Amino acid sequence: MIATDAAEIANSNGKVKSIMYTAHLPQTIFVEPCARKTALLADVKAAMSELVAIHNAEFEALMREDFIDLDVLRARLRVARERKAGLIEIYREHVTSHGC
Ligand SMILES: [Zn+2]
Repeated sequence: MIATDAAEIANSNGKVKSIMYTAHLPQTIFVEPCARKTALLADVKAAMSELVAIHNAEFEALMREDFIDLDVLRARLRVARERKAGLIEIYREHVTSHGC
């Protein structure tokens, strides 16, 4: 929606007249966010949450001195980090190519 309002100005001969003016705001700020971008960002967030969960499990395993579980968790961390990095790359490619 474009805002319109009235104003009064004095012209060169001193007569006051009423004019209408329109505010020209960039319309892009009213456009909904790109659905694909939103979905990709949710994927990155989920991957980051998974990393936090694995780190928490790693700390708990350390407290239990369960070194076998620590090895398993280290392998899971490696896979989860690669997944997160890949998702960030997909997000970056989308944003730069789509311009959203
Ligand atoms: Zn997009």
